[in-house]
Amino acid sequence: MALIVQKFGGSSVANAERVMRVAGIITETYKKGNDVAVVVSAQGDTTDDLIEKANEINPNASRREMDMLLTAGEQMSVALLAMAIEKLGCPVVSLLGWQAGFITDTTYGAARIKRIEPDRMRAELDKKKIVIVAGFQGINRLDDMTTLGRGGSDTSAVAIAAALHADRCQIFTDVTGVFTADPRKVDGTVKLNEITYDEMLEFATLGAQVLNNRSVEMAKKYNVELEVLSSMVKEPGTIVREVAKMEKMLIRGVTKDTQVARISVVGMKDVPGNAFKMFSRLSGKGINIDVILQSVGRDGTKDITFTCSKANAEKAVEVLEDLYAAEGAVVSSDTSIAKVSIVGAGMQSHSGTASKMFGALYEAGINIKMISTSEITISVLIDAADADRAVSAVHKAFFPEN
Ligand code: ADP
Ligand code: ASP
Ligand code: MG
Repeated sequence: MALIVQKFGGSSVANAERVMRVAGIITETYKKGNDVAVVVSAQGDTTDDLIEKANEINPNASRREMDMLLTAGEQMSVALLAMAIEKLGCPVVSLLGWQAGFITDTTYGAARIKRIEPDRMRAELDKKKIVIVAGFQGINRLDDMTTLGRGGSDTSAVAIAAALHADRCQIFTDVTGVFTADPRKVDGTVKLNEITYDEMLEFATLGAQVLNNRSVEMAKKYNVELEVLSSMVKEPGTIVREVAKMEKMLIRGVTKDTQVARISVVGMKDVPGNAFKMFSRLSGKGINIDVILQSVGRDGTKDITFTCSKANAEKAVEVLEDLYAAEGAVVSSDTSIAKVSIVGAGMQSHSGTASKMFGALYEAGINIKMISTSEITISVLIDAADADRAVSAVHKAFFPEN
Protein backbone atom coordinates (compact mmCIF):
# COMPACT_ATOMS: atom_id res chain seq x y z
CA MET A 1 0.00 0.00 0.00
CA ALA A 2 1.29 3.42 -0.93
CA LEU A 3 0.42 7.05 -0.20
CA ILE A 4 -0.29 8.82 -3.46
CA VAL A 5 -0.81 12.55 -4.01
CA GLN A 6 -2.80 13.47 -7.13
CA LYS A 7 -3.31 17.01 -8.41
CA PHE A 8 -5.97 18.01 -10.93
CA GLY A 9 -5.77 21.38 -12.68
CA GLY A 10 -8.65 23.65 -13.63
CA SER A 11 -9.27 22.18 -17.08
CA SER A 12 -9.42 18.65 -15.62
CA VAL A 13 -12.42 19.62 -13.48
CA ALA A 14 -13.98 22.22 -15.81
CA ASN A 15 -17.48 20.68 -15.87
CA ALA A 16 -19.61 18.00 -14.19
CA GLU A 17 -18.56 15.28 -16.63
CA ARG A 18 -14.86 15.96 -16.04
CA VAL A 19 -15.35 16.10 -12.27
CA MET A 20 -16.94 12.61 -12.46
CA ARG A 21 -14.05 11.35 -14.62
CA VAL A 22 -11.50 12.68 -12.12
CA ALA A 23 -13.49 11.10 -9.26
CA GLY A 24 -13.15 7.84 -11.20
CA ILE A 25 -9.33 8.16 -11.40
CA ILE A 26 -9.12 8.90 -7.67
CA THR A 27 -11.42 6.08 -6.54
CA GLU A 28 -9.64 3.62 -8.82
CA THR A 29 -6.35 4.50 -7.10
CA TYR A 30 -8.03 4.25 -3.68
CA LYS A 31 -9.66 0.90 -4.40
CA LYS A 32 -6.25 -0.59 -5.19
CA GLY A 33 -5.54 -0.13 -1.47
CA ASN A 34 -3.67 3.17 -1.58
CA ASP A 35 -4.06 6.19 0.68
CA VAL A 36 -4.95 9.11 -1.58
CA ALA A 37 -4.54 12.85 -0.95
CA VAL A 38 -5.81 15.06 -3.75
CA VAL A 39 -5.19 18.71 -4.60
CA VAL A 40 -7.63 20.42 -6.92
CA SER A 41 -7.71 23.82 -8.65
CA ALA A 42 -10.68 26.05 -9.38
CA GLN A 43 -12.85 24.85 -12.27
CA GLY A 44 -11.91 25.99 -15.79
CA ASP A 45 -11.52 29.77 -16.01
CA THR A 46 -13.03 30.44 -12.58
CA THR A 47 -9.96 32.28 -11.24
CA ASP A 48 -9.83 34.57 -14.31
CA ASP A 49 -13.58 35.18 -14.03
CA LEU A 50 -13.26 36.12 -10.36
CA ILE A 51 -10.45 38.57 -11.20
CA GLU A 52 -12.69 40.12 -13.85
CA LYS A 53 -15.55 40.43 -11.38
CA ALA A 54 -13.24 42.23 -8.94
CA ASN A 55 -12.03 44.58 -11.68
CA GLU A 56 -15.61 45.56 -12.50
CA ILE A 57 -16.00 46.80 -8.95
CA ASN A 58 -12.52 48.00 -7.98
CA PRO A 59 -9.45 47.47 -10.16
CA ASN A 60 -7.30 48.64 -7.24
CA ALA A 61 -8.75 46.24 -4.68
CA SER A 62 -6.38 45.29 -1.85
CA ARG A 63 -4.48 42.05 -2.22
CA ARG A 64 -6.08 40.77 0.97
CA GLU A 65 -9.57 41.09 -0.45
CA MET A 66 -8.42 39.61 -3.79
CA ASP A 67 -7.19 36.53 -1.91
CA MET A 68 -10.45 36.30 0.00
CA LEU A 69 -12.21 36.24 -3.37
CA LEU A 70 -9.88 33.92 -5.29
CA THR A 71 -9.76 31.21 -2.61
CA ALA A 72 -13.50 30.78 -3.24
CA GLY A 73 -12.76 29.15 -6.62
CA GLU A 74 -10.94 26.24 -5.03
CA GLN A 75 -13.52 26.00 -2.22
CA MET A 76 -16.17 25.23 -4.85
CA SER A 77 -14.13 22.59 -6.62
CA VAL A 78 -13.10 20.62 -3.50
CA ALA A 79 -16.74 20.34 -2.44
CA LEU A 80 -17.93 19.30 -5.91
CA LEU A 81 -15.18 16.70 -6.28
CA ALA A 82 -15.91 15.30 -2.83
CA MET A 83 -19.61 15.03 -3.77
CA ALA A 84 -18.64 13.13 -6.92
CA ILE A 85 -16.56 10.70 -4.86
CA GLU A 86 -19.42 10.25 -2.38
CA LYS A 87 -21.59 9.33 -5.35
CA LEU A 88 -19.07 6.63 -6.30
CA GLY A 89 -19.40 5.22 -2.78
CA CYS A 90 -15.99 6.00 -1.29
CA PRO A 91 -15.31 7.78 2.03
CA VAL A 92 -14.05 11.30 1.42
CA VAL A 93 -13.51 14.66 3.10
CA SER A 94 -12.78 18.04 1.51
CA LEU A 95 -10.48 20.53 3.26
CA LEU A 96 -9.60 24.17 2.64
CA GLY A 97 -5.95 25.19 2.79
CA TRP A 98 -6.13 26.23 6.46
CA GLN A 99 -7.86 22.99 7.46
CA ALA A 100 -5.10 21.03 5.75
CA GLY A 101 -2.51 23.01 7.75
CA PHE A 102 -1.01 25.25 5.04
CA ILE A 103 0.69 28.06 6.97
CA THR A 104 2.03 30.82 4.71
CA ASP A 105 3.74 34.18 5.04
CA THR A 106 1.70 37.38 4.69
CA THR A 107 2.48 38.17 1.05
CA TYR A 108 -1.10 38.21 -0.24
CA GLY A 109 -1.32 37.12 -3.86
CA ALA A 110 2.09 35.43 -3.87
CA ALA A 111 2.39 33.83 -0.44
CA ARG A 112 5.11 31.34 0.37
CA ILE A 113 4.33 28.20 2.32
CA LYS A 114 6.20 28.41 5.64
CA ARG A 115 5.18 24.99 6.88
CA ILE A 116 2.45 22.40 6.74
CA GLU A 117 0.84 21.06 9.90
CA PRO A 118 -0.41 17.75 8.52
CA ASP A 119 -2.21 16.37 11.60
CA ARG A 120 -5.73 16.79 10.23
CA MET A 121 -4.81 15.30 6.84
CA ARG A 122 -3.10 12.37 8.59
CA ALA A 123 -6.07 11.78 10.88
CA GLU A 124 -8.47 11.70 7.93
CA LEU A 125 -6.19 9.34 5.97
CA ASP A 126 -5.97 7.10 9.06
CA LYS A 127 -9.78 6.94 8.99
CA LYS A 128 -9.35 5.61 5.44
CA LYS A 129 -10.83 8.71 3.86
CA ILE A 130 -9.81 10.19 0.55
CA VAL A 131 -8.63 13.72 1.39
CA ILE A 132 -9.42 16.49 -1.11
CA VAL A 133 -7.45 19.70 -0.45
CA ALA A 134 -8.05 23.13 -2.00
CA GLY A 135 -4.95 24.08 -3.98
CA PHE A 136 -3.34 27.51 -4.26
CA GLN A 137 -4.26 28.64 -0.72
CA GLY A 138 -3.19 28.81 2.89
CA ILE A 139 -3.57 30.89 6.00
CA ASN A 140 -1.17 33.44 7.49
CA ARG A 141 -0.33 34.43 11.07
CA LEU A 142 -3.14 37.00 11.00
CA ASP A 143 -5.63 34.18 10.31
CA ASP A 144 -6.22 35.57 6.81
CA MET A 145 -6.56 33.39 3.75
CA THR A 146 -3.70 33.80 1.26
CA THR A 147 -3.03 32.56 -2.26
CA LEU A 148 0.25 31.23 -3.61
CA GLY A 149 0.33 33.00 -7.00
CA ARG A 150 -1.14 31.86 -10.33
CA GLY A 151 -0.65 28.18 -11.04
CA GLY A 152 0.03 27.64 -7.31
CA SER A 153 -1.92 24.39 -6.97
CA ASP A 154 1.07 22.51 -8.35
CA THR A 155 3.04 23.80 -5.37
CA SER A 156 0.28 22.78 -2.96
CA ALA A 157 0.49 19.23 -4.30
CA VAL A 158 4.27 18.99 -4.00
CA ALA A 159 4.12 20.47 -0.49
CA ILE A 160 1.63 17.81 0.62
CA ALA A 161 3.72 15.07 -0.98
CA ALA A 162 6.77 16.34 0.94
CA ALA A 163 4.91 16.80 4.25
CA LEU A 164 3.27 13.35 4.14
CA HIS A 165 6.34 11.62 2.64
CA ALA A 166 4.15 10.39 -0.19
CA ASP A 167 5.35 7.57 -2.43
CA ARG A 168 4.21 9.33 -5.60
CA CYS A 169 3.06 12.79 -6.71
CA GLN A 170 1.03 12.84 -9.89
CA ILE A 171 0.18 16.13 -11.61
CA PHE A 172 -2.81 15.49 -13.89
CA THR A 173 -3.45 18.09 -16.58
CA ASP A 174 -4.92 18.54 -20.06
CA VAL A 175 -1.86 17.32 -22.01
CA THR A 176 -0.18 13.92 -21.72
CA GLY A 177 3.10 15.22 -20.27
CA VAL A 178 5.89 17.73 -20.75
CA PHE A 179 6.63 18.25 -24.45
CA THR A 180 9.55 19.74 -26.40
CA ALA A 181 7.37 22.87 -26.81
CA ASP A 182 3.76 23.77 -26.05
CA PRO A 183 1.89 21.00 -27.94
CA ARG A 184 -1.13 23.28 -28.37
CA LYS A 185 0.85 25.93 -30.20
CA VAL A 186 3.75 24.23 -31.98
CA ASP A 187 3.64 21.49 -34.61
CA GLY A 188 5.70 18.32 -34.32
CA THR A 189 6.34 18.41 -30.57
CA VAL A 190 7.53 15.26 -28.80
CA LYS A 191 6.62 14.10 -25.30
CA LEU A 192 9.60 13.73 -22.96
CA ASN A 193 9.76 10.52 -20.95
CA GLU A 194 11.95 12.14 -18.32
CA ILE A 195 13.38 15.54 -17.44
CA THR A 196 15.60 16.67 -14.54
CA TYR A 197 14.47 19.09 -11.83
CA ASP A 198 17.00 21.66 -13.04
CA GLU A 199 15.85 21.46 -16.63
CA MET A 200 12.16 21.57 -15.65
CA LEU A 201 12.81 24.52 -13.34
CA GLU A 202 14.37 26.50 -16.20
CA PHE A 203 11.68 25.36 -18.61
CA ALA A 204 8.90 26.48 -16.22
CA THR A 205 10.62 29.76 -15.30
CA LEU A 206 11.17 30.59 -18.97
CA GLY A 207 7.51 30.12 -19.86
CA ALA A 208 6.41 26.45 -20.07
CA GLN A 209 3.33 26.77 -17.87
CA VAL A 210 2.67 23.03 -17.60
CA LEU A 211 4.29 23.11 -14.13
CA ASN A 212 4.58 26.10 -11.85
CA ASN A 213 8.28 26.87 -11.25
CA ARG A 214 7.95 27.08 -7.47
CA SER A 215 6.52 23.57 -7.42
CA VAL A 216 9.59 22.27 -9.25
CA GLU A 217 11.90 24.14 -6.88
CA MET A 218 10.13 22.52 -3.94
CA ALA A 219 10.13 19.07 -5.57
CA LYS A 220 13.90 19.33 -6.00
CA LYS A 221 14.42 20.53 -2.43
CA TYR A 222 12.43 17.67 -0.90
CA ASN A 223 13.30 15.14 -3.58
CA VAL A 224 9.68 14.55 -4.58
CA GLU A 225 9.52 12.70 -7.88
CA LEU A 226 6.77 14.14 -10.08
CA GLU A 227 4.78 12.57 -12.85
CA VAL A 228 2.98 14.92 -15.26
CA LEU A 229 0.15 13.12 -17.05
CA SER A 230 -3.26 13.55 -18.62
CA SER A 231 -6.57 13.32 -16.80
CA MET A 232 -8.29 12.60 -20.14
CA VAL A 233 -6.00 10.08 -21.86
CA LYS A 234 -4.69 7.04 -20.00
CA GLU A 235 -0.98 6.77 -20.87
CA PRO A 236 2.35 7.21 -19.10
CA GLY A 237 3.39 10.83 -18.65
CA THR A 238 6.69 12.61 -18.01
CA ILE A 239 8.79 11.91 -14.92
CA VAL A 240 10.58 14.86 -13.31
CA ARG A 241 13.50 13.74 -11.15
CA GLU A 242 17.12 14.49 -10.16
CA VAL A 243 18.75 12.42 -12.90
CA ALA A 244 17.13 11.73 -16.24
CA LYS A 245 18.13 9.85 -19.38
CA MET A 246 19.13 12.14 -22.23
CA GLU A 247 17.32 10.24 -25.00
CA LYS A 248 19.91 11.42 -27.55
CA MET A 249 18.53 14.93 -27.30
CA LEU A 250 20.74 17.97 -27.44
CA ILE A 251 18.04 20.07 -25.81
CA ARG A 252 14.80 19.23 -24.00
CA GLY A 253 12.73 21.93 -25.54
CA VAL A 254 11.87 25.45 -26.63
CA THR A 255 9.73 27.93 -24.74
CA LYS A 256 8.67 31.57 -24.80
CA ASP A 257 7.86 34.22 -22.24
CA THR A 258 5.88 37.23 -23.38
CA GLN A 259 5.61 38.82 -19.94
CA VAL A 260 8.96 40.61 -20.20
CA ALA A 261 9.94 44.24 -20.67
CA ARG A 262 13.22 45.84 -21.72
CA ILE A 263 14.33 48.96 -19.85
CA SER A 264 17.19 51.17 -21.08
CA VAL A 265 19.07 54.01 -19.44
CA VAL A 266 21.04 55.85 -22.10
CA GLY A 267 23.73 58.42 -21.35
CA MET A 268 24.35 57.84 -17.64
CA LYS A 269 27.66 59.08 -16.16
CA ASP A 270 30.46 56.51 -16.66
CA VAL A 271 31.60 56.43 -13.02
CA PRO A 272 32.16 53.58 -10.53
CA GLY A 273 29.14 52.47 -8.51
CA ASN A 274 26.47 53.31 -11.05
CA ALA A 275 25.36 49.70 -11.67
CA PHE A 276 25.38 49.08 -7.92
CA LYS A 277 23.25 52.15 -7.22
CA MET A 278 20.80 51.28 -9.98
CA PHE A 279 20.25 47.61 -9.17
CA SER A 280 20.17 48.04 -5.40
CA ARG A 281 17.48 50.72 -5.78
CA LEU A 282 15.46 48.43 -8.07
CA SER A 283 15.82 45.43 -5.78
CA GLY A 284 14.78 47.63 -2.83
CA LYS A 285 11.50 48.16 -4.68
CA GLY A 286 11.06 44.41 -5.14
CA ILE A 287 11.86 44.51 -8.87
CA ASN A 288 13.65 41.40 -10.11
CA ILE A 289 16.14 41.90 -12.93
CA ASP A 290 16.99 39.34 -15.55
CA VAL A 291 19.27 39.91 -18.57
CA ILE A 292 21.68 42.86 -18.17
CA LEU A 293 23.70 44.53 -20.90
CA GLN A 294 26.14 47.43 -20.42
CA SER A 295 27.59 49.38 -23.33
CA VAL A 296 31.22 50.37 -23.68
CA GLY A 297 31.69 53.86 -22.24
CA ARG A 298 32.06 56.86 -24.57
CA ASP A 299 32.57 60.57 -23.86
CA GLY A 300 32.22 59.93 -20.15
CA THR A 301 28.81 58.26 -20.48
CA LYS A 302 27.48 54.71 -20.81
CA ASP A 303 24.16 52.88 -21.32
CA ILE A 304 22.65 50.01 -19.31
CA THR A 305 19.79 47.88 -20.61
CA PHE A 306 18.07 45.12 -18.68
CA THR A 307 14.88 43.08 -18.63
CA CYS A 308 12.28 42.68 -15.90
CA SER A 309 8.70 41.45 -15.83
CA LYS A 310 6.16 43.51 -17.76
CA ALA A 311 4.22 44.04 -14.54
CA ASN A 312 7.22 45.87 -13.04
CA ALA A 313 8.15 47.97 -16.10
CA GLU A 314 6.33 51.16 -15.10
CA LYS A 315 7.68 51.05 -11.57
CA ALA A 316 11.23 50.45 -12.87
CA VAL A 317 11.05 53.46 -15.19
CA GLU A 318 9.80 55.65 -12.32
CA VAL A 319 12.65 54.56 -10.04
CA LEU A 320 15.28 55.15 -12.73
CA GLU A 321 13.92 58.53 -13.84
CA ASP A 322 14.10 59.58 -10.25
CA LEU A 323 17.75 58.47 -10.15
CA TYR A 324 19.05 59.67 -13.51
CA ALA A 325 16.91 62.49 -14.89
CA ALA A 326 19.09 65.07 -13.13
CA GLU A 327 22.24 63.92 -14.94
CA GLY A 328 20.52 64.03 -18.32
CA ALA A 329 20.24 60.25 -18.95
CA VAL A 330 17.18 59.05 -20.89
CA VAL A 331 15.10 56.16 -19.50
CA SER A 332 12.85 54.17 -21.83
CA SER A 333 10.92 50.90 -21.77
CA ASP A 334 9.82 48.47 -24.44
CA THR A 335 7.01 46.06 -23.52
CA SER A 336 6.47 44.57 -26.97
CA ILE A 337 9.27 42.03 -26.66
CA ALA A 338 9.42 38.31 -25.92
CA LYS A 339 12.05 35.94 -24.64
CA VAL A 340 12.51 32.69 -26.53
CA SER A 341 14.67 30.06 -24.85
CA ILE A 342 16.07 26.60 -25.35
CA VAL A 343 16.67 24.36 -22.33
CA GLY A 344 18.69 21.19 -21.88
CA ALA A 345 21.68 19.84 -19.96
CA GLY A 346 22.86 18.24 -23.22
CA MET A 347 24.15 21.58 -24.46
CA GLN A 348 26.94 21.49 -21.86
CA SER A 349 28.68 18.68 -23.68
CA HIS A 350 27.90 19.69 -27.27
CA SER A 351 29.27 22.64 -29.17
CA GLY A 352 27.22 24.40 -31.81
CA THR A 353 23.95 24.61 -29.87
CA ALA A 354 23.91 28.42 -29.85
CA SER A 355 24.82 28.71 -33.54
CA LYS A 356 22.06 26.26 -34.43
CA MET A 357 19.52 28.40 -32.57
CA PHE A 358 20.79 31.68 -34.01
CA GLY A 359 20.92 30.14 -37.52
CA ALA A 360 17.26 29.12 -37.28
CA LEU A 361 16.29 32.66 -36.25
CA TYR A 362 18.41 34.19 -39.04
CA GLU A 363 16.75 31.96 -41.64
CA ALA A 364 13.35 33.02 -40.33
CA GLY A 365 14.42 36.66 -40.67
CA ILE A 366 14.09 37.35 -36.95
CA ASN A 367 16.28 39.99 -35.36
CA ILE A 368 17.86 39.26 -31.95
CA LYS A 369 17.89 42.22 -29.54
CA MET A 370 19.66 40.62 -26.57
CA ILE A 371 21.15 37.23 -25.73
CA SER A 372 21.69 35.54 -22.38
CA THR A 373 22.96 32.10 -21.45
CA SER A 374 23.27 29.87 -18.42
CA GLU A 375 24.74 26.37 -18.14
CA ILE A 376 21.61 24.73 -19.50
CA THR A 377 19.74 27.56 -21.28
CA ILE A 378 20.16 30.01 -24.13
CA SER A 379 17.64 32.87 -24.35
CA VAL A 380 17.13 35.57 -26.94
CA LEU A 381 15.00 38.70 -26.76
CA ILE A 382 13.06 39.45 -29.92
CA ASP A 383 10.00 41.42 -31.02
CA ALA A 384 6.86 39.97 -29.41
CA ALA A 385 5.24 39.80 -32.85
CA ASP A 386 7.91 37.27 -33.93
CA ALA A 387 7.66 35.04 -30.85
CA ASP A 388 5.48 32.20 -32.18
CA ARG A 389 7.37 32.06 -35.47
CA ALA A 390 10.67 32.00 -33.56
CA VAL A 391 9.60 29.12 -31.32
CA SER A 392 8.48 27.08 -34.35
CA ALA A 393 11.67 27.82 -36.33
CA VAL A 394 13.97 26.93 -33.43
CA HIS A 395 11.93 23.83 -32.58
CA LYS A 396 12.14 22.65 -36.19
CA ALA A 397 15.93 23.13 -36.19
CA PHE A 398 16.39 20.92 -33.12
CA PHE A 399 13.61 18.38 -33.79
CA PRO A 400 13.60 18.18 -37.59
CA GLU A 401 12.01 14.76 -38.13
CA ASN A 402 8.80 15.64 -36.38
P1 ADP B 1 -3.66 22.96 -15.33
O1 ADP B 1 -4.97 23.65 -15.45
O2 ADP B 1 -3.79 21.48 -15.34
O3 ADP B 1 -2.80 23.47 -14.21
P2 ADP B 1 -2.08 24.51 -17.20
O4 ADP B 1 -2.91 25.23 -18.22
O5 ADP B 1 -1.52 25.30 -16.07
O6 ADP B 1 -2.91 23.25 -16.70
O7 ADP B 1 -0.85 23.78 -17.92
C1 ADP B 1 -1.07 22.91 -19.01
C2 ADP B 1 -0.83 23.64 -20.31
O8 ADP B 1 0.55 23.99 -20.41
C3 ADP B 1 -1.07 22.81 -21.54
O9 ADP B 1 -2.43 22.87 -21.94
C4 ADP B 1 -0.14 23.42 -22.58
O10 ADP B 1 -0.82 24.23 -23.51
C5 ADP B 1 0.81 24.30 -21.75
N1 ADP B 1 2.24 24.07 -22.06
C6 ADP B 1 3.15 25.05 -22.30
N2 ADP B 1 4.35 24.52 -22.58
C7 ADP B 1 4.23 23.18 -22.49
C8 ADP B 1 5.13 22.09 -22.66
N3 ADP B 1 6.41 22.28 -22.98
N4 ADP B 1 4.66 20.83 -22.49
C9 ADP B 1 3.37 20.61 -22.17
N5 ADP B 1 2.46 21.61 -21.99
C10 ADP B 1 2.87 22.88 -22.15
N1 ASP C 1 -6.74 28.49 -9.70
C1 ASP C 1 -5.42 29.06 -9.62
C2 ASP C 1 -5.03 29.72 -10.94
O1 ASP C 1 -5.83 29.72 -11.87
C3 ASP C 1 -4.37 28.08 -9.17
C4 ASP C 1 -4.05 26.97 -10.15
O2 ASP C 1 -4.79 26.74 -11.10
O3 ASP C 1 -3.03 26.29 -9.94
O4 ASP C 1 -3.96 30.26 -11.05
MG1 MG D 1 -1.33 24.98 -13.99
